[in-house]
Amino acid sequence: MSAPEDGHDMRDETRLASAGRRPEWTGPIVNTPVHRASTILFEDCAALRRGAARNADGDFHYGRRGTPTQWSLAEALTALEPGAAGTMLYPSGVAAIACALLSVLKSGDELLMVDSVYGPTRGFCDQVLAQMGIATRYYDPLIGAGIAALIGERTRAVFLESPGSLTFEVQDVPAIVDAAKARGLVTLLDNTWATPLFFPAIAAGIDLAILACTKYVVGHSDAMLGSVTATPAVYPGLRRTTQLFGQHVSPDDAFLASRGLRTLAVRLKAHEAGALAVARWLAARPEVARVLHPALPACPGHDAWARDFRGASGLFGFVLDGGGEAARAALIDGLAHFGIGYSWGGFESLALPVDPAGLRTATRWQAEGPVVRLHIGLEHPDDLIADLDRGLARYRAVRDA
Ligand SMILES: *Cc1c(COP(=O)(O)O)cnc(C)c1O
Repeated sequence: MSAPEDGHDMRDETRLASAGRRPEWTGPIVNTPVHRASTILFEDCAALRRGAARNADGDFHYGRRGTPTQWSLAEALTALEPGAAGTMLYPSGVAAIACALLSVLKSGDELLMVDSVYGPTRGFCDQVLAQMGIATRYYDPLIGAGIAALIGERTRAVFLESPGSLTFEVQDVPAIVDAAKARGLVTLLDNTWATPLFFPAIAAGIDLAILACTKYVVGHSDAMLGSVTATPAVYPGLRRTTQLFGQHVSPDDAFLASRGLRTLAVRLKAHEAGALAVARWLAARPEVARVLHPALPACPGHDAWARDFRGASGLFGFVLDGGGEAARAALIDGLAHFGIGYSWGGFESLALPVDPAGLRTATRWQAEGPVVRLHIGLEHPDDLIADLDRGLARYRAVRDA
């Protein structure tokens, strides 16, 4: 998956098996145990003072600063991003995004935000940041080096999400990072779709790499968690902001995420293969106008994906050829192997009706028909394809009635 390069002394699969398993944290146990704690007891006053003065990651201090259970997960996530200084954990992906933004922005600043961003990220900018006097300017996901023209006196940071939520445009990350660096801006990337295995963000020049660990890291749809991995330049500010906000992750959830992380590489390969099989099948169907999958040439930004990414995960969309809400619902409602619900990244397949048009302000979303987003789980793709085949027949019957 990743070549041993850029100071990488082992491949990702090997790193996933060992990262974060310090003997002083695990003892003789393979997985880091769940340590529950609020109060941490010190030997004497001097020991308590020494710890506070050192103020180091991985030191016992107080439950809010975590225990080996959370430290082990954070260290493993840092190890997946060559060049990173550290990782902070959050109770959800949205909490991670909010804290990352607040760690680099202050009143009077302007933020450049990709127009295809995850809806709740847009909500945070338009409601919380706006109220704090931080302006958000949305930009076309395909802007590339053209971002330079949007950078003004007050611009402080650029936020990227690639591919975009719901519509899957792949951004030209190197071009945007170059333009941002030339003007001294901080870059943040929501890397939830690719994870560091398919796109090592810090090595690509991103300052703050964000994951909704709820998705592929946890991987089993049973816990919520977020993370931000940062370069040495911005990590101290991220850590300070996170601590001031009192952010904390339960040891049980951190344990589940660590456990999920061990199998991330094999799961991603299976999600990738299944999703490609389903996406290619859909692309050949007359009922489907377009498939929005970064690894297929029809996807906007596909060339950037082919150049920059090491793989494609299991989430993509497709545009139906005409029809309305009822025809789309006829397709989705009768599916046997796809659940209907938010989130993704678990072992199970999901189908979701999505309507991107209302989530745009800098660009316009136009399509030939309604959009369906699929997460392809670990089921056999033949069964998923047969299920979708029956679904498209139901869609056709309603559309053409
Ligand atoms: C789900 C998601 C988030 C938010 O994660 P939560 O853990 O649900 O808060 C952020 N970004 C992207 C791209 C997501 O898909």
